[in-house]
Amino acid sequence: MTIRTRFAPSPTGYIHVGNVRTALYTYLIARKHQGNFILRIEDTDQARFVEGAEELILKTLNWLGLDWDEGPNLNNDKEIGNFGPYHQTDRREIYLKWAKKMIDEELAYADPYTPEQVQAFRDQAKSEKRAFLYRDHRPENPPEWQLGMPLRFKVPEIKRYSWQDAVMGELSAGPEALDDFILIKADGLPTYNFAHIIDDFEMKITHVIRGSEYIASTPKYLSLYEALKIEPPILAHVPHIMAPTGNKKLGKREELFWDIAPWGKRRKRQILYVINCECGEMSVWQLDADEPSPRDEVCEVCGRVLFDADGNAMQPLEKEFI
Ligand code: GLU
Repeated sequence: MTIRTRFAPSPTGYIHVGNVRTALYTYLIARKHQGNFILRIEDTDQARFVEGAEELILKTLNWLGLDWDEGPNLNNDKEIGNFGPYHQTDRREIYLKWAKKMIDEELAYADPYTPEQVQAFRDQAKSEKRAFLYRDHRPENPPEWQLGMPLRFKVPEIKRYSWQDAVMGELSAGPEALDDFILIKADGLPTYNFAHIIDDFEMKITHVIRGSEYIASTPKYLSLYEALKIEPPILAHVPHIMAPTGNKKLGKREELFWDIAPWGKRRKRQILYVINCECGEMSVWQLDADEPSPRDEVCEVCGRVLFDADGNAMQPLEKEFI
């Protein structure tokens, strides 16, 4: 089996050191196993689109030497790879095809309520101090779905899920984690929840490495994988990098990563700091049981990606940007 990993950023904010760390792990796993590293741009959230964010993603990966085998081209011309397109907004037909299949199999239904009605359900649940679950409001006779209406997943079986996370170990969550989430929004674009499952499957992704904020939604994804009869990829959720102030994770809209000279030394120091701190933790990876701890190898690869023979940071593009 060819190991295929993907880095799948959304251009809804500027790439920061936490994203870079995820990209690095994703890259190293692919390279360590002579696999493929794919770059996919998850640009379906048009409301939060940030101009220039995608360009920074490409330049940053390039600057760090994290070359991708498939994905958008740095020069913004033709994409590379046989599993494209690699921008989600160019994959609408693919999501619609899957959506139709799900409607036919009674795994999806049109949401007949207005956003105000859904909000009223939510408010009511809050006033009664219970969690809002859309599935409690599943309509008996939903209208025929057409573009312009949200399409929801009809969770086929409400149950507890337990699963193995490559970093976090054994995890589980009860039925309260499952809900009839939106697959296609009223604007005709898919949600992240739907699109990434379809894309990972169609792009033959074997390992999904991403931030731990996605653990809470994993039971929903497992339910969708099961409904679609898709074998889930190996899931690896990495802990957050915390913001320098306050007890919260570093967010895309904070400027830790981008506040000094755009391509300057401070940023490189931040990256090196993170890599230094994190290499030790890479030993938690267990891609297959017979492997020795990959720590040394990973550090060695980190070294090759980010340092020259004397241990100095490599500067492939820096001069150009300072
Ligand atoms: N587009 C998601 C983000 O930027 C990616 C999550 C994932 O890797 O699946 O957070």
